[in-house]
Amino acid sequence: TGSTRPQRILRAVQKNATRGDPCSVVKAIDDYCRHKEWAMNVGDEKGCIVDSVVSEVKPTAVLELGTYCAYSTVRIASLLSPNAKLITLEFNSDYAAIAREVIAWAGLQDKIQLVEGASGEWIPRLKEEFGIETFDLIFLDHWKDRYLPDTKLLEKCGLLRPGTVLLADNVICPGTPDYLDYVRNSQQYKSKFFKSHLEYTQEEDGLEKSVFLG
Ligand code: SAM
Ligand code: MG
Repeated sequence: TGSTRPQRILRAVQKNATRGDPCSVVKAIDDYCRHKEWAMNVGDEKGCIVDSVVSEVKPTAVLELGTYCAYSTVRIASLLSPNAKLITLEFNSDYAAIAREVIAWAGLQDKIQLVEGASGEWIPRLKEEFGIETFDLIFLDHWKDRYLPDTKLLEKCGLLRPGTVLLADNVICPGTPDYLDYVRNSQQYKSKFFKSHLEYTQEEDGLEKSVFLG
């Protein structure tokens, strides 16, 4: 057809989800990716774990690293309180364009700031550009070799406070061994593993929740 997978995911949303209803957007993407075409969304099974962490933390300022089609973006933003904001970073402009449409379809554009660019370049600018003090919750789901350097960069830029929660996807599959080793052995974090499966498969995977202690 000449279309890309993100374009087909967007079409599934436009066909099957109700405008202004984030749950229906999440469901349309899960249905499409479970039955038609696998895609790298956090997915429904791990998504429930993400939901429970968001509900527990009740964050006001959220950072997401890796937007793709905005599946997790919509999922997280739909659980935020009215005054809360989510910043999501995506360096692929084709994905970012799709994500903007998915976010608008869900009616969540006022809660979400989608920033186009690489995490390593944007993290040092977040305080100035968006008036952020510190984040309450950070969802790491970009390229797996960036979890550790970007966590150290977030520390260095003063974007973490005691109590900030890092939630990292795919720590088993594809895996983030250097990151896991760091958060599990550092005195600065209290870290816990949530066993699950890779999105839309039976492959073992999981999320690591790490509370920054300061
Ligand atoms: N969080 C999304 C979800 O669950 O629906 C999935 C994100 S996907 C697994 C990872 C995304 O991160 C890709 O779209 C990729 O282009 C983006 N990405 C990877 N490394 C990045 C970086 N250093 N800065 C910004 N975006 C990055
Ligand atoms: Mg993931």
